[in-house]
Amino acid sequence: MDILLYDNWERRLRPFSPLNKDWVGLYCCGPTVYDYAHIGNLRTYLFEDLLRRALEWNGYTVRHVINITDVGHLVSDGDDGEDKMEKGSRKAGESAWQIADRFTTAFKDDLQKLHILEPAIWCKATDHIVEQIDFIAAIEKNGYTYRTSDGIYFDTSKQDDYGFLARIKRDAIKAGSRVELGEKLHATDFALWKFSPPDEHRQMEWDSPWGRGFPGWHIECSAMSAKYLTPWFDIHCGGEDHIAIHHSNEIAQNQACHGTRLANFWMHGYFLQIDSGKMSKSTGEFLRLQTLLDQNIDPLAYRYLCLTAHYRSQMQFSFEALLSAQTALQRLRETYHAWPTGGSVSVEYREKFTCFINEDLNVPRALALVWEMLKADLSDADKKATLTEFDKVFGLGLAQWQPAVLAIPAEVQSLAEQRQAARKARNWAEADRLRGELHALGYEVEDKADGMQIKAL
Ligand code: AMP
Ligand code: ZN
Repeated sequence: MDILLYDNWERRLRPFSPLNKDWVGLYCCGPTVYDYAHIGNLRTYLFEDLLRRALEWNGYTVRHVINITDVGHLVSDGDDGEDKMEKGSRKAGESAWQIADRFTTAFKDDLQKLHILEPAIWCKATDHIVEQIDFIAAIEKNGYTYRTSDGIYFDTSKQDDYGFLARIKRDAIKAGSRVELGEKLHATDFALWKFSPPDEHRQMEWDSPWGRGFPGWHIECSAMSAKYLTPWFDIHCGGEDHIAIHHSNEIAQNQACHGTRLANFWMHGYFLQIDSGKMSKSTGEFLRLQTLLDQNIDPLAYRYLCLTAHYRSQMQFSFEALLSAQTALQRLRETYHAWPTGGSVSVEYREKFTCFINEDLNVPRALALVWEMLKADLSDADKKATLTEFDKVFGLGLAQWQPAVLAIPAEVQSLAEQRQAARKARNWAEADRLRGELHALGYEVEDKADGMQIKAL
């Protein structure tokens, strides 16, 4: 069955067919590790995880790469202002290297809590300075660069189709007053290499053929994706904000160096919004996964919530919606665990599921199918086998879930046992009195054929 994916390069759904026989290359722009990830960022990684799982569902082996931006991303997405890492380091009172380590660990921990599969390759910008210098040197050799007093810049006017991904008009390249442009020749030109300020020591700086400094933000993704996936691979992902600048510039660099537009498919996750607009790291107004955990919300309830919205539409965040997702997930877990094992996967439901998943990841529809299946005329064991299969894509970890074990206080245990003894002796009045005492303590006893079960009220 064809997989249709929405490609932002062509702005249409296209049937996916892999470029290599053995693996599908998937490159996802990773976090800038000057702060924690917020749940908006995590929505984008959840979309990418679903994409990977959907490809694996269809039998592909995915070579998944996520990079860690630990240098070069300036405060404005353009080329002005401070490096976010140096700024974050001052704010935290730790070195740029220390915060990079700390926030990378926190990020990986968030992914794990959300059941986002570990990529085959993690790559850090600071571990690939040589590759980035070589890439810039090749772009320079091909005649696409110029030098200013603060760096080596990419001349976007040299490419007829610069900015095609974002449908940037040629006029936009020429736009910008002299003052705004500074020494840049065109508004859309961007830094490939920035020089360290003449009388300042940056924490992160390296020697290069052009002088001491650090790479621009965009070059790391071109250099590392070329290294790990070749300069022409299957799918490149990121959040919607990357279309206009970061991804347009990655493409420009690859065109200039390798003559490719980097990836066959360009796919983007759309934003998580909060009341005040886009959730963003730089405004400081953001919710972390830990914020949800502090409120006793299961991280997987956030995963479930993200499954309910299509990746190509923005999602409005609310705690009400999150709590409903948590309730739905809990119901699904309990239903799943009450079903017996030993069934077989329903061919009909598997086929329907594949249709939805392969239609540009219509995960919300696939999730609705699960609730339909619950009411369908299938045996419970078959439902369990089918849902176990679907969960390879949903990633909710239904089979691994364990009901929380209730710690029963000794007093409650003893009252419950006395009640059972009273029942055995057919002393119903005493059994009722003990039930009342248990109620008063907040517990309920359920009598079962093979004994009793104590539950919190
Ligand atoms: P950053 O760490 O800022 O480089 O962003 C990491 C990823 O999160 C990128 O792919 C961004 O495009 C994406 N992103 C940023 N803000 C949001 C948001 N509010 N909702 C969804 N994705 C976002
Ligand atoms: Zn990138």
